[in-house]
Amino acid sequence: MNYIEPHAHMISRTTDDYLSMATAGCRAISEPAFWAGYDRSSEKGFYDYFSHLTGFEPKRAASFGIQHYSWMCINPKEAEDIGLADAVLALIPEFLAKPTCLGVGEIGLNKNSRNELLVLEKHIQLAADYDQLILVHTPHLEDKLKGTKLIVDAIRNHPAIKPERVIIDHVEEHTVGVVKDAGFWAGMTLYPESKLSANRAIDIIEQYGSDRLWMNCACDWGVSDPLATPKAALEMRRRGHSEATVHRVFYENPKAFMGQCDKFQIRSHA
Ligand SMILES: [Zn+2]
Repeated sequence: MNYIEPHAHMISRTTDDYLSMATAGCRAISEPAFWAGYDRSSEKGFYDYFSHLTGFEPKRAASFGIQHYSWMCINPKEAEDIGLADAVLALIPEFLAKPTCLGVGEIGLNKNSRNELLVLEKHIQLAADYDQLILVHTPHLEDKLKGTKLIVDAIRNHPAIKPERVIIDHVEEHTVGVVKDAGFWAGMTLYPESKLSANRAIDIIEQYGSDRLWMNCACDWGVSDPLATPKAALEMRRRGHSEATVHRVFYENPKAFMGQCDKFQIRSHA
């Protein structure tokens, strides 16, 4: 099958992972900017990271026949320092103009702090100013429901942001309704130990339908599986879902959301 991996941190993965994903039918990857495993000491560290995401990583993916796209932001984990956040925000427009950059992300909240919320609002304004799509990270475990509601309110309060141009990722059973009822897209992240298993994600699809939903592996520095997405597709088929539904969730939905940015074009191999 062909599929799109809409959330993967390939900077933390090996060429073996690219090969496995290409072999499983991955046609395109989108990589949001995130925490790099360490706190960067200045905005220059972010400049180098954004240059990597828009330069070397697309080339590395292309050598396996995979198209690579990215999203720009300062992640909430490093957004406590408002001065640093402002310096990074000033760098972002240069990268939003790159041919493989799809928008602003993954913004959001980590500990739901006041400074994180302030920097989130600055990113929302940046997306409005530059007419960008938004990809949102939601906090973990006990902070998730409160954080999701804060994020939904912050985005809805901005008159220029259309909810269908925003995806809120890492939803779980208790947050998917909040996100979809507000008109946003919802992402489900498949992790071996936390977030969702394939079966929980498929349960959510059976309950809420397959509209405005995607699945991703988020593969990063932690325990994660770069093939979690195609494995969930196998599990969907095993549970009796039609090929059309599987294709919608793993290919058409991410294509429809990201395709709202003209730069996202899946090349035909024909
Ligand atoms: Zn991520």
